[in-house]
Amino acid sequence: MKNIIKIALDGPSGSGKSTIAKKISAKLNILYLDTGAMYRATALKALALGIDTFDEKGVSTFINDIDLQIKYVDGTQRTILDGVDVSEKIREPHVSMAASNISSLKCVRLKMVDMQRKIASQMSCVLDGRDIGSYVLPNADFKFYITASVDVRADRRFKELTLKGHKVDYAELKKEIEQRDYNDKTREFSPLVKAENAIEIDTSFMTIDQVIGKVLSYIE
Ligand code: C5P
Repeated sequence: MKNIIKIALDGPSGSGKSTIAKKISAKLNILYLDTGAMYRATALKALALGIDTFDEKGVSTFINDIDLQIKYVDGTQRTILDGVDVSEKIREPHVSMAASNISSLKCVRLKMVDMQRKIASQMSCVLDGRDIGSYVLPNADFKFYITASVDVRADRRFKELTLKGHKVDYAELKKEIEQRDYNDKTREFSPLVKAENAIEIDTSFMTIDQVIGKVLSYIE
């Protein structure tokens, strides 16, 4: 295997990318960057400033100077916004839709992609997101497109949020996932697409261990 490897994991919300990326990074002892966390933190910033997440002019007033840092504590990614650890706050359900909205803005994507490339340039890593294989790291050594049916993804997200104590309406959640899929796939700049040479894995009827095994079988 090469000294430095770059792995891109893309796919729609709730397909299991982040769980898989975390396990792969631990197994290979390489960095894991959850790029969705960066869009979530940007959305949180806009919400705190009272700026509409679709308002490109408003968002452009803060995006280039955003104080957003990614740190690792005991191997776990922490997302720091304006010096405050917002790793938990960015997972709140209302931030998901705001992140989806703000991620369609070109000024936001340019800034995030620049930060992601800088982080990824220094070491072996696995990045998960929507445009990693197609845009952020087009020369990645391995590209995977992780997907699952909308029903399976809604079930997973419902369980995850309920476990965390959030009160969620299943039908609303499913609708939101469909809306986020639509936003991600139809935005003009750097939409969610399966990169040309990506390996597609449908996780709908697979256990996490089966998916990890499959991904590793390509890498090792
Ligand atoms: O992956 P996660 O659901 O945490 O991402 C939050 C939102 O950020 C997604 O709905 C998606 O619209 C956006 N995103 C993106 N590009 C990425 C990662 C996330 O547009 N590379």
